[in-house]
Amino acid sequence: MTRPSHPTRFASTLDLSRLPWFDVRDGNRLVLVDDSVGPIIDMHTHLAMGYFRKLAVDLRRETPATSYYLPLTLPVDLDLYSNQNLDDAAMFAMKLDLSVLSLTGQGMRTTHTAPNLARDLRDLGIVYAVVLPIDMPVGMRNSDSVLEVAREYEELIPFGSVHPFDSDADSRLLTQRERGALGIKLHPNAQFVAPDHPKTVHLCGRCGTHGLPVLFHCGPVGIEPEAGRRRSQVFRYEKAMAENPDTTFVLGHSGALQFDEALRFADRYPNVLFELSCLGLPALRQVLETVPADRLLYGTDWPFYHQSLTLARILLATEGEPALRRAVLHDNAARLLGLRPETAAPLEDARRSAGGGGQEGGTGSEGD
Ligand SMILES: [Zn+2]
Repeated sequence: MTRPSHPTRFASTLDLSRLPWFDVRDGNRLVLVDDSVGPIIDMHTHLAMGYFRKLAVDLRRETPATSYYLPLTLPVDLDLYSNQNLDDAAMFAMKLDLSVLSLTGQGMRTTHTAPNLARDLRDLGIVYAVVLPIDMPVGMRNSDSVLEVAREYEELIPFGSVHPFDSDADSRLLTQRERGALGIKLHPNAQFVAPDHPKTVHLCGRCGTHGLPVLFHCGPVGIEPEAGRRRSQVFRYEKAMAENPDTTFVLGHSGALQFDEALRFADRYPNVLFELSCLGLPALRQVLETVPADRLLYGTDWPFYHQSLTLARILLATEGEPALRRAVLHDNAARLLGLRPETAAPLEDARRSAGGGGQEGGTGSEGD
């Protein structure tokens, strides 16, 4: 069976509308128009975060457009790891936004809000997005703001975050679970602690005890500082998995630039799932071929990237394999998150019996 050939290089993100699944609406929004795709759950998104002081961004404010760190206007090559599509100016703007400006209420961050994320979800047929905060042992608690705002948006599923050095780690896990966290995000670079540090390994065990899956940022991405690159080497994640067989792990970015090393964990550790955000298309195909179909998860790293980037790659890599596509885009995440069975009911059948009429991607009410 030959694969239909589709383009993989685009003049901009909106240019992805040359693929059969997407269209441009209102001149500036890429929407999913193929009814047979979905429902979709995005396992990897962020809202604006702050450090060292109270969050100065209003997470409830809708703005006319979202400023992604990869601007919609830049060319996109789906074969590349996503961040390799940023040019120098975009890279500079991103680093500034995530460092100095994160102390302020300014920057692209002001568009990384709950209603802006919800608008993109509607455009792309994504029914739920998992929102991942990152906490430090002291100072701003991003988990608090995420847990709070997610209560007001049915489509946002909050994870919590605890720093391995937090003296209060165990009780904070319980508090966050009580407040609705369905898992815990750990980020070796942003939290400045290695995945094989004894405190990290211990915290992963506690997460398992409390029934909270751990979503690790996993692997070097090529643009982090040298120390962060050393901390996020894929081999350093093995200890936490090996010593905590009762904890469910999700490897964010599937090991990123070292995905091929992470693939060795698939056999060894049945408690490990692979989240697919940012991987270039050849890498993604390799992960899909190697990892059992029930342990793969769609994720996007919004607002770094428009959610269509990883979606397009998955649609390209699963053509002619509807069962795999459905597992990756929805069913595996629904199972992991324990979502209501009606969410996981086969939507395709329901749509077919309803006549399969074109469903409007957005509500049309979010003016810009
Ligand atoms: Zn992320």
